[in-house]
Amino acid sequence: MNAQAPKGTADMLPDVARAWEHLQRVAQELFARYGYEPVYTPLFEHTEVFTRGIGEATDIVSKEMYTFEDKGGRSITLRPEGTASVVRAALEHNLTANGAQAKLYYAGPMFRYERPQKGRMRQFWQIGIEVLGAAEPTADAEVITVLWRFFEALGIPAAIMRLLLNSMGDESCRPAYRDSIAAFIRQHARDLCEECVRRAETNPLRAFDCKNPGCREVMAGASLLRDELCDECAAHYAAVKTHLDALGIPYVEDSTLVRGLDYYTRTVFEIQVDAGLGSQNAIGGGGRYDRLMEAYDGPPTPGLGFALGFERTLLAMQAAGIEVPAPPRAEVFVARVDDSVTAEVFALAQRMRDAGVAAELDHQARSLKSQFKQADRLGARFVVVVGPDELASGEVTLRDMSTREEKRVALDAAPAAVAAALG
Ligand code: AMP
Repeated sequence: MNAQAPKGTADMLPDVARAWEHLQRVAQELFARYGYEPVYTPLFEHTEVFTRGIGEATDIVSKEMYTFEDKGGRSITLRPEGTASVVRAALEHNLTANGAQAKLYYAGPMFRYERPQKGRMRQFWQIGIEVLGAAEPTADAEVITVLWRFFEALGIPAAIMRLLLNSMGDESCRPAYRDSIAAFIRQHARDLCEECVRRAETNPLRAFDCKNPGCREVMAGASLLRDELCDECAAHYAAVKTHLDALGIPYVEDSTLVRGLDYYTRTVFEIQVDAGLGSQNAIGGGGRYDRLMEAYDGPPTPGLGFALGFERTLLAMQAAGIEVPAPPRAEVFVARVDDSVTAEVFALAQRMRDAGVAAELDHQARSLKSQFKQADRLGARFVVVVGPDELASGEVTLRDMSTREEKRVALDAAPAAVAAALG
């Protein structure tokens, strides 16, 4: 049997799992201040949720989805991202009926069949927020600010983050621009990679995303959507920038930022960190998707959100020297002198835990000496030694591991004494 996790997946061992939980706690606390509520959607959906929502021509849908037929003959796909599912759920449960606004956040694994490399996994973990029913540019500025503040709250210095901002226009200005870029690509086909030439027919704006330096040079000569936005999109974009300026959120306008999903309209943004990340340097990003609910035959419902990736955020934190503090695995270790007192030790450890103290005991019949070593390894501040002699007089020995002071305390009073000493 192959005991290795599948390619592109990783076990989250305690240090990493603790960091994931830390991110979720920071997120929950921050998002609550902005009125976001939790939502959990299934890890798999009917494939159509993604093909219609994200778009057939995108990399995600055309190459990266884990799609299979279930035993009932349905086409099922493991979710490659969170937005499509949240919008599907909001439509199914009428969360935005009668003009209501929904503010939701999620956290969990996503699945994309990508070529694994540093910061790029096949199962990776995202945290994201979505605002549905909000058309105003203040919503865009709020969502971007939440993303920025989240990374700040983790301790990632603003100086190593770069917030890129762009507008992708809407159905009144983007089609003409798309056509002009497709024509531009055909004109310069000789100097572009095959993939970009193919994109002219499917998803021309993605040519701006090409990592190939030759393609980048050519695409630098293409006209910018920023200059071709319709009046409404231009006004929206300007207002988003004004609101960000007012809050002092530093952004860099990047008209080549198109992001890989078809559903984006108007505002798109991404936060990048160079240190420690190599080529996968985007730690989070998102945008507005005002037409997405209509792709599911729902009513026109403006919306926007972001998703951030756990693995890359952790790499950025490591590069910035930020550690997630590990609590001691035990505050007190209840040690036994011999196995005549096992039952008392077991009961005392439980009373410690019931008193709110992190307590551990030996389950491996170790000697007293190795129980002390184990207590040290676990970071215990106190060891309570239970022996037949002390027990005969209803007492145990309480040892402070840092000062090495020892005192006798009554067995019954030991949990309260340890809880008080721990403060
Ligand atoms: P996206 O849904 O592609 O906009 O990605 C949002 C964020 O998720 C990115 O900024 C990354 O931090 C993270 N992410 C996306 N794809 C992967 C992947 N294959 N492996 C690890 N993280 C990813």
